[in-house]
Amino acid sequence: MATNNPHPSTWNAHIPVDSGMLQGEPVLFYWNLDLPESLEYSGLVFSFSGNLEARAEKSAEGRSFWVVISVACKGSVPCSRCLAETPLEIIGTFRYFYTPSAEVDEQSADDEMTVTYPPDAVEVDLSGQIWESLVMSLPVKVLCRDDCEGLCPRCGADLNLGPCGCQNETLDPRLQALKDVLPGVSEE
Ligand SMILES: [Zn+2]
Ligand SMILES: [Zn+2]
Repeated sequence: MATNNPHPSTWNAHIPVDSGMLQGEPVLFYWNLDLPESLEYSGLVFSFSGNLEARAEKSAEGRSFWVVISVACKGSVPCSRCLAETPLEIIGTFRYFYTPSAEVDEQSADDEMTVTYPPDAVEVDLSGQIWESLVMSLPVKVLCRDDCEGLCPRCGADLNLGPCGCQNETLDPRLQALKDVLPGVSEE
């Protein structure tokens, strides 16, 4: 689940390995992290407004522990049909397992949600996993509205603004034949 863009270098999201928690209660950490102006991922350019709210919930499990990472931010992305910039809220929650590298077994080493850290570390940096959680939360397709009409495939006009001249032209006979057998295909 890697992206070529690394997280911003200003990020600092360290948590102590031994958080001194009592009674096995999970410990919560919060960060407000800078975001780049935009991020290109899977063919879409996401623009961000404001910062990333990140939250981590660390389980009380000694030197090997689970961390539930939640991310939330606001942004916008071009509609997948008409290209109009469309606002969206990005939220996601992922669970990672942190373990000292000396204790890792083969099976968990292959698990991409397992993160190893040096056995003598007193804290771990979650920045990489917070960034990965953000990237994994990005939608692959966004519509400005469910019934977006999109762009005319012939002239490129935004059909949400009304019909373009193309629809009066005769349809390709092969398409006409397809339309006859597919009642759901609408007039363009
Ligand atoms: Zn649209
Ligand atoms: Zn047209």
